[in-house]
Amino acid sequence: MKEKNSVKKRWLRMVKPKPKTGSFVLPGDWLGVIEEFTPNEGTYEEKGEVYAANAGMVLIDKMERRVRVVPVEAPPFPKKGDVALGMIVKTGKALSIVSVARIGGRFLSSPCSGVIHVSQISNEFVVKPTDAFKTGDIVKAKVIDRRGDLIQLSTIGKKFGVVHAFCSKCGTMLIPKNEKSLICHNCGNEEKRKISVDYGKTKI
Ligand SMILES: [Zn+2]
Repeated sequence: MKEKNSVKKRWLRMVKPKPKTGSFVLPGDWLGVIEEFTPNEGTYEEKGEVYAANAGMVLIDKMERRVRVVPVEAPPFPKKGDVALGMIVKTGKALSIVSVARIGGRFLSSPCSGVIHVSQISNEFVVKPTDAFKTGDIVKAKVIDRRGDLIQLSTIGKKFGVVHAFCSKCGTMLIPKNEKSLICHNCGNEEKRKISVDYGKTKI
């Protein structure tokens, strides 16, 4: 029986690439095994395997070893061209996940998820999202596309990028040093970001 299960697991992994944060899944799609993740909102467990309970975007918290699927059906949604304000909640290899709280001047009743692909950070080449954003940063971004309830954002352009950030060493609000870096006046720590010209001027 044990052997049969491991064959099934191997087969599942072969036929379907493992969903990552930002992947779209449908109900019943395999997400992983219970040893890796605690099933959470939007997922269910069956015989040690974790599946998506609804259609949506996968969010994996590696630290907490939790997997969630954020549903696609949502209230009125940001549209292409809107300016979004949100917080960076995760930076991965290619994507940064943003919890969007405000669209234009309007606060959303509940935050929605947006992603910024590494190619949409800046006109200049960015190797990895962590060179531009850190978890907890407040960013101003433009809505460039949406699929279901996931919005795709871009911070290309001078107006867009980080508008508020804290020192990752001591938590003090960082101050712009030049176009590409911020400095902490408390501990002297310097950090790179994709900085908006509106840094520090945007009401949060
Ligand atoms: Zn500091």
